[in-house]
Amino acid sequence: MPHDTPAGRVLLVGAGPGPADLLTVRALRAVETAGALLYDALVSDEVVALAPQTCVRIRTGKRAGAASMPQDAINRLMLRLARRGLTVVRLKGGDPAIFGRVGEEKAYLTAHGVETEIIPGITAASAAAAQFGFPLTHRGEARRLLISTATIGKGARPEDGWAAAADPQTTLALYMGRDQVEAIAARLIALGRPSDTPAIAVENAGHPEARAIPARLDKLADAVITAAPTGPVVILIGEVASQADAAIDLAPRRAQQIAS
Ligand code: SAH
Repeated sequence: MPHDTPAGRVLLVGAGPGPADLLTVRALRAVETAGALLYDALVSDEVVALAPQTCVRIRTGKRAGAASMPQDAINRLMLRLARRGLTVVRLKGGDPAIFGRVGEEKAYLTAHGVETEIIPGITAASAAAAQFGFPLTHRGEARRLLISTATIGKGARPEDGWAAAADPQTTLALYMGRDQVEAIAARLIALGRPSDTPAIAVENAGHPEARAIPARLDKLADAVITAAPTGPVVILIGEVASQADAAIDLAPRRAQQIAS
């Protein structure tokens, strides 16, 4: 890097699930002082609007299958902007450390001599649980939270690797799982998870228009298909889901458990 250029840096920031009041104060300060903002598809307009007027804003991701900027182009762009001396804010939906490629981006920038800092955000599972009034762990009922994606790399089989989620004391938070929910539910049941395990799919978690789709595990895929969500969906599977405010059809099961 030439010595006469001020060193920029890149902040890898979690934007949370959407509403600006679900940003951390540290993330808010980062956005408000950004020289350049690169943001993903899931970052809300409300959060992007908090950046200074003079800030360069670049949208790197598009939803619904439209082409997004390739990762290596994003990396090179961050590097170029940082080398101009700018404070670059790389904004991701939720928490950047959860399916946010923060490891890849940090490694690239570090290898090119650019300083980085990670600022955490509220992940979709936390936003969903808070909004619909249930915990992700619960004493005596759910001692483990497993955050997983249903999307897998080439060569892997979608049905593999679910043994860790079969234990009844596991809450499974499934990201990017809408299209695989039928196969995964069947796999969990085959591995011994009761078919009436409560589950809840939450669309647009954290947003005022969020929608909860509660169902038992063996009916979850049908419930999601019927609901036909168009926004992002996080799926939570496990006993904790019976505590959700929206778990109308699961309530009798919960009442039974409390009584017994
Ligand atoms: N870093 C993000 C996850 C990115 S992966 C986070 O921590 O939340 C993208 C997936 O996250 C989506 O396919 C969906 O499964 C989930 N997701 C992200 N935002 C969501 C939201 N507001 N409501 C429901 N699911 C969401």
